[in-house]
Formats: sequence, structure tokens, C-alpha cells
Amino acid sequence: MAVLPIRKYGDPVLRTRAEEIDVSEIAALEALIDDMVETMYAEPGVGLAANQVGVAKRLAVIDLTVGEEPGNVHVLINPELHESEGEQFEEEGCLSIPDFVELVSRPERVRVTYLDREGNAKEMWGEGLMARAICHELDHLNGVMFVDYLRGMKKDRILKKIQKLVKAGEWY
Ligand SMILES: [Zn+2]
Repeated sequence: MAVLPIRKYGDPVLRTRAEEIDVSEIAALEALIDDMVETMYAEPGVGLAANQVGVAKRLAVIDLTVGEEPGNVHVLINPELHESEGEQFEEEGCLSIPDFVELVSRPERVRVTYLDREGNAKEMWGEGLMARAICHELDHLNGVMFVDYLRGMKKDRILKKIQKLVKAGEWY
């Protein structure tokens, strides 16, 4: 297993719509999945999408315990959102936009279907932080990042700060 470098805001792969994964492909993704989980724990973060490590495929990993409690890692292949309920307004961050957090509105509950790492069709309801993590990772797979939800001055401020870091070479 290996910790992979995380692609940062500005990298085109983060703006790419990730491709569907064929069931026959899943076995060949074992090493990538393990590396993504290790990378998520190393950062540390609660979720990671494949395009954040440069692979534009519809695959994400989530573990709200960041590896503290075994058996909590969710591997979501071709995740699809089917239902959402309620609203939550909490601070959100992203490993591809390090050290920035902003308030983002998300549904309180979501129902998602996906394939697990064995290729089994699964369905789950996520609530609270899990709902937020699912929406955040699904967005990544569609080339969307949480700063896209910010508006006006808030957005200008965060983008200006990011550009300054990129210019200073502190971003990568
Ligand atoms: Zn993110």
C-alpha cells in the first residue's frame, strides 16, 4: 500500500466527470482502493474520490472514523444519489483545498446506491456527516468542488487566497 499525492484545486482532473466503472474492472482496482484508503487516513480525511489522486473513475472511499474504528470504511463504486431529505448547514473542507473550511448547505439524509469492492450492488441511507461526505464525494466525481457553492465576497476571498498560495508555490 502507498500514500498517493493529492491533486489540488486547479488540477484539471478535479474538473473532469469521472467515468463509470465496469464490474469486470473492479478486481484490477484493488490496489488503488487500498492506496486511497491509506491516503485518506494519512491526510487525515473522512473521504476521498479517485480523481483526487488523479484517476477519473467513479470511485470514492469514506470512513467517518478515519480508521480509528475498524470496519467503517465504505468503498463506493459508481455511486448514485436517489433521494435526499432535509437540510444541514455546516462547515466543510476538502483535501484538495487544504486549510480552508466554509459553511455549505447539504441534505440531512441521502439515499445512495453503489457497488462495493466485491462488485455487489448496495444501497444505504447516510445521515448527518455521512450524508455530507457522500454528497461531497459524489460532487468530486462530477467535477464539482465545495467552493463552487460559495457566492460573492466569500467566494472571491477564498479563490484569491488559493491563487496567492499557488503563486507562492506553497500549494503543491
Ligand atoms: Zn474534497
